[in-house]
Amino acid sequence: MSLANGRTYLAIPGPSAMPDRVLQAMHRPSPNIYEGELVEMMPGIVAGLKAVACTQHNVAIYVGNGHAAWEASLANVFSRGDKALILATGMFSYSWADMVRAMGIEVEIVDFGQSGPIDMARAADILARDAAHEYKAVLCTLVDTATSVKNDIKALRNVLDAVGHPALLMVDGIASIGCDRFEMDAWGVDVAVTGCQKGLMTPAGMSFVFFNDKADAARDSANCVTHYWDWRPRATPDGFWRYFDGTAPTHHLYGLREALAMIAEEGLENVWRRHAVLTGAIWAAVDAWSAAGAIDLQVPNPAARSHAVTCVAMQSPNATRLRQWVEAHTGVTLGMNLGLGTEDGSDRDGYFRIGHMGHVNPHMVLGMLGSVEAALIACEIPHGPGALTAAAEHIAKNA
Ligand SMILES: *Cc1c(COP(=O)(O)O)cnc(C)c1O
Repeated sequence: MSLANGRTYLAIPGPSAMPDRVLQAMHRPSPNIYEGELVEMMPGIVAGLKAVACTQHNVAIYVGNGHAAWEASLANVFSRGDKALILATGMFSYSWADMVRAMGIEVEIVDFGQSGPIDMARAADILARDAAHEYKAVLCTLVDTATSVKNDIKALRNVLDAVGHPALLMVDGIASIGCDRFEMDAWGVDVAVTGCQKGLMTPAGMSFVFFNDKADAARDSANCVTHYWDWRPRATPDGFWRYFDGTAPTHHLYGLREALAMIAEEGLENVWRRHAVLTGAIWAAVDAWSAAGAIDLQVPNPAARSHAVTCVAMQSPNATRLRQWVEAHTGVTLGMNLGLGTEDGSDRDGYFRIGHMGHVNPHMVLGMLGSVEAALIACEIPHGPGALTAAAEHIAKNA
């Protein structure tokens, strides 16, 4: 019997749970797009976006999903025939790389596996070998949403500096900005991309490219840039419509403004800390389950785990069975496996992912964990005891 009626929780790594405040802000008639409130609220939105990315530099806004920001970021820095180095820690690195390749740019992918971060010594080696400085840019994710691996971006900047390599550092922060600590300027990131539907708690449909002056200088010679994807007029618009190169995403802007206000009210440091504590509760629960069952965190090293998404590895097909039971019976939807496991796909049903990004608090996380525990029992999947107590203790200790 399904007990799922009641408020549902989409616990997948994006789109994330939407605050009522955001939804209510969007519930209005179409506003005037030529003058008045909508036009006047743009400087505040731009400032709020830069604050979340911890940058004083530029932001270009796109009506599109994360893939749009991916393509936009590439179009503004590369010319056909350029070379890019991709440091891969999961499927999303590969998807971004596919886009680079499709634009006529030479791609070199170095794969760091599915359960750990970029090895900085190896990255240093690879960059040092490129004495001719052929890599125009180094691309990686802050968090790869497929594996939940988090990379040390500041360390990567230090590697580039130590080797003396001038490549641009381009970071995909789509899953993680507004969840995991990210400091664009302090960490020396040249280009960062994110979307509105994860840490920024707004319905999917807008994305953002942050870029500094060094990246903007690359734009001067980039021959991949086209009118629509050009970040300059969007970052320095000489009219309201130029932010979007056309009609504004009117209602998204109202939602986004509210979401940014919520982040500012809570304080970005507190937002990061809330994500860290809630994630710690999830780790505590999985560790308890794993004490007597084949159910483990995908990333062994806590320092390399995201605070926005957690990937859990089980014996196939238990992860899929568990996910389907949870969805059918509890009103919680968990994330499915994206690209994890062996190449033949035989363990495809051995992974699930928990999205805990944005508008999330202890009762949601504890409810989600309790729903997973119910599924473990109902599906007769062996697991250790005390997971919920461990999670509650972690929250009690860190609240
Ligand atoms: C979600 C996500 C994307 C893709 O975003 P879309 O909005 O689905 O296009 C890219 N990279 C990462 C790390 C993501 O989490």
